[in-house]
Amino acid sequence: MPARNILVINCGSSSIKFALVNEAHSQFALSGLAERLGHHDAVLHWQRGGERDSLMIPSGDHRTALAQLLPLVQAAAGGKLHGIGHRVVHGGEHFTTARRLDPAVMQAIRATIPLAPLHNPANLQGIEAALKLFPDLPHVAVFDTAFHQTLPEHAYRYALAESLYREHGVRRYGFHGTSHRFVSQRGAELAGLSVGDSSWLVAHLGNGCSTCAVVNGQSRDTSMGLTPLEGLVMGTRSGDVDPNLHGHLARVLGWSLERIDTLLNKESGLLGLSGLSNDMRSLEQARAQGHAGAAIAIEVFCYRLAKSLAAMSCALPHLDGLIFTGGIGENSPLVRSKTLAHLSLLNLALDKHANARTIGGVAGAIHAPGHPRVLVVPTNEERQIALDTLALLH
Ligand code: AMP
Repeated sequence: MPARNILVINCGSSSIKFALVNEAHSQFALSGLAERLGHHDAVLHWQRGGERDSLMIPSGDHRTALAQLLPLVQAAAGGKLHGIGHRVVHGGEHFTTARRLDPAVMQAIRATIPLAPLHNPANLQGIEAALKLFPDLPHVAVFDTAFHQTLPEHAYRYALAESLYREHGVRRYGFHGTSHRFVSQRGAELAGLSVGDSSWLVAHLGNGCSTCAVVNGQSRDTSMGLTPLEGLVMGTRSGDVDPNLHGHLARVLGWSLERIDTLLNKESGLLGLSGLSNDMRSLEQARAQGHAGAAIAIEVFCYRLAKSLAAMSCALPHLDGLIFTGGIGENSPLVRSKTLAHLSLLNLALDKHANARTIGGVAGAIHAPGHPRVLVVPTNEERQIALDTLALLH
């Protein structure tokens, strides 16, 4: 059977990220981004082979963008597209694995909207547009939360009244599941271990950041919770703060819930701490030039990450290794070394040279000889979504 092609789609409220994945090739045949959808300056960017191109689609919506994409995808796939994989942020407790899309699955995704009021409606918008444009292809939904449905109850329950959990789904769900699953499997392969018999700490550090404890291929704890705001310091999200902060800001400053939501999700994290940027690369440059805000943002980021990894170690029977992934995890020797400096109690230590050279999409071991494994493993959520989609085509 010739190698099959899957189009992977990730829809935000005004954007679509896409990649055409061929099961036999690690490079994407076509990838790109439609952004500012619904606005007068909506635009579609794509990359095929080494060539980049873009097309203005003034006031175009998700459907317009996908319609423009259709001939590009057909050409790049040589007319042979086998299915579409959709990233869906929140699957609640309903979805423990990827699912073929049908009316019942669509309805269950809709029922999860109260848990993800920003993300799931955007994901559904993309799914509905794609179903209309590609009615004869199989469509599969792959959920960010599904991998974490193996968390034990003591890890997913908040210390709140049971009725809030039973009647309103207030519990920890976790996100970035597709990435944590992909890199923990790749990490086991790189280490020559069976994924079904190995224990990992994973740090996914991108614009959003989370840690995960993966035991025998299953998630046992993770730092994000009911929403992706819980846990680590992120690009613009605060991560953990005192839950009384809401009341404090309302009383002292008279702030509304919406204002506090915006503060915690869009104005905090690296951006809030530094007063400069949400982008780690820019902060590293600013720190090197003596910017005090950039320096403290990086210190807080790394210390909080180390604390979270130490906490995740409670869920492991033993440690086969720590995996760094995501834009920061894959590219920042500084963040990796500062984080590990706080984790000497776990006996973690880096090889300075291996740490410095393992950047730019390279996978490899960066620990010092005689210390527990530390791996850099580039994530590839699109490929994992394509593999999950292919697995459901039979
Ligand atoms: P992602 O969301 O996975 O694309 O990751 C985005 C984050 O990775 C941003 O904070 C980037 O600044 C960061 N990043 C990408 N390249 C580098 C680099 N060479 N050094 C430090 N941070 C980087």
